[in-house]
Amino acid sequence: MSKYIAMSENTETIFSKIIRREIPADIVYEDDLALAFKDIHPQAPTHILLIPKKPIATLADAESQDHALLGHLLLTAKRVAEQAGLKNGYRVVINAGDDGGQTVYHLHLHILGGRQLDWPPG
Ligand code: 5GP
Repeated sequence: MSKYIAMSENTETIFSKIIRREIPADIVYEDDLALAFKDIHPQAPTHILLIPKKPIATLADAESQDHALLGHLLLTAKRVAEQAGLKNGYRVVINAGDDGGQTVYHLHLHILGGRQLDWPPG
């Protein structure tokens, strides 16, 4: 079994099902590499999740071969925020691992906006 297939199996999550359209999601953006959809429990007036289609479990699992993909995700986050009309600013967050508060082990960027966000986070 190739490393990639083994990784895919390990990172099968609810987000894999959203990519395959097996469960519904409010999708706001899609390209060959990435998918963005509204968070089911929004923490701000705009709360969008942006995920790579490649099933990377967590940022700690990203490798040097993912360099271009990670750059694509950041630029796509900007594009999705613009598309959502977040003219006054926004926050892009990656929760990585248990201490980071990650609950779904498929890498995702939270795009939050539409209100003044507090700092530091809890
Ligand atoms: P994490 O805590 O891993 O950084 O973020 C996971 C996010 O996924 C949470 O904000 C949670 O509300 C969201 N989420 C979990 N399950 C679903 C789902 O089935 N659909 C959507 N749209 N969002 C989900």
